[in-house]
Amino acid sequence: MAAGARRPARVFIDLDAIAHNARVLASLVAPARLCAVVKADAYGHGAVAAARAALEGGASELAVALVDEGAELRDAGIEAPILVLSEPGADAMAEVYSYGLVPTIYSLEGLALARRAARGRRLSRDAGPAPVEINLDTGMHRDGVDPEGLERLAPLLEDCRELELAGLWTHLAVAEETDREFTARQLERLGIALRLLSSLGISKPRRVHAANTAGAIAWPSSRLDMVRCGIGLYGYCPSPAVEAALSSQSAGGSADDLRPALSLSAQVSSVRDLKAGEAVSYGLKAPLAADSRVATVPLGYGDGIPRSFFTGGGEVLVKGRRRRLAGSVTMDQIMVDCEDDATVAPGDEVVLIGQQGGERLTANDWAGVLDTICYEVVTRIGPRVPRSYVRTGSAPRGEAARVGQSAGRGR
Ligand SMILES: *Cc1c(COP(=O)(O)O)cnc(C)c1O
Repeated sequence: MAAGARRPARVFIDLDAIAHNARVLASLVAPARLCAVVKADAYGHGAVAAARAALEGGASELAVALVDEGAELRDAGIEAPILVLSEPGADAMAEVYSYGLVPTIYSLEGLALARRAARGRRLSRDAGPAPVEINLDTGMHRDGVDPEGLERLAPLLEDCRELELAGLWTHLAVAEETDREFTARQLERLGIALRLLSSLGISKPRRVHAANTAGAIAWPSSRLDMVRCGIGLYGYCPSPAVEAALSSQSAGGSADDLRPALSLSAQVSSVRDLKAGEAVSYGLKAPLAADSRVATVPLGYGDGIPRSFFTGGGEVLVKGRRRRLAGSVTMDQIMVDCEDDATVAPGDEVVLIGQQGGERLTANDWAGVLDTICYEVVTRIGPRVPRSYVRTGSAPRGEAARVGQSAGRGR
């Protein structure tokens, strides 16, 4: 049994929302292909289930950050192409081809390791050269080879009979800021690199790609042969500007919206009625302004609710109303100020992300409170909270969220 599976706290993942989002993105970018980015356990959604749903919806392949993440997908029987987005170190690279993964390289060491791994492949299994992709740093300066380095790396790769250049790609640094010219400059540098390769007589990479979700939606010229979408698959636009770009390209119906796939809820474990002036939790930081019913809920910073959720004024839903925390987040529990609602009782559902009644809380609401981005909010919900997978069909958003929160539909 998974850690925490007996707790009255749960993440619900709507697999139909992920499939729907893949469908929306795939049709938006066609004829470019859609690669579903499922690194970091699919941003906290569960890599295997999310990958299957994305493939069902129209993704043609998958990407992960680590060889171990690719191995997890293969062990689960997933056969789609899988690209590893970072250059594996020696131990990981040694196994990359036995799992049928495509490594990214950007250094001479990476090239040597990939070559050794390709030589080590059992020949009976696959006789042709082994694929590698090169990540070109066009300005994000996180990883990738710079254009001068490419001039050295690419000819050496061309000379390796064991390897072939399956792709050349880059990563966009500011694509969610649609008013910044830097994205155009990055794409231009990618084009210059391609011309350089051709002037060196190097075989054309089989494909070229650059776009993340923001690029795929807001920068049509970045779609190239394939887009690599993570956050969009999980139902979020990276910024309001990207959201506006999406609605301006769609037919305008809600069928083209992205739908958040994740909701988080728990049941009230106990309640107590406290007098004005009393305070709760570590530090007794915030004396109650009035007599209040305070509900304890079994989720804490050990599950990915940061302590700054309280200081930033984060809210949760109880009986369809937004309620603030009454005190500091503890490791396993939070306390919610239900004010004068004396009907709140143990067992009541508390929604932290998702819909309840007419109210709705998203990872973006959390991101505003926590001074971060929705990516971090969903990704940090810890493994101690069990994931339940639900299918809500093509129901509109609200309906989907409600079904997603009714307990016990997990598989
Ligand atoms: C994480 C990642 C993506 C996906 O980005 P989103 O903004 O979530 O779509 C794409 N490419 C690379 C190289 C990444 O690291």
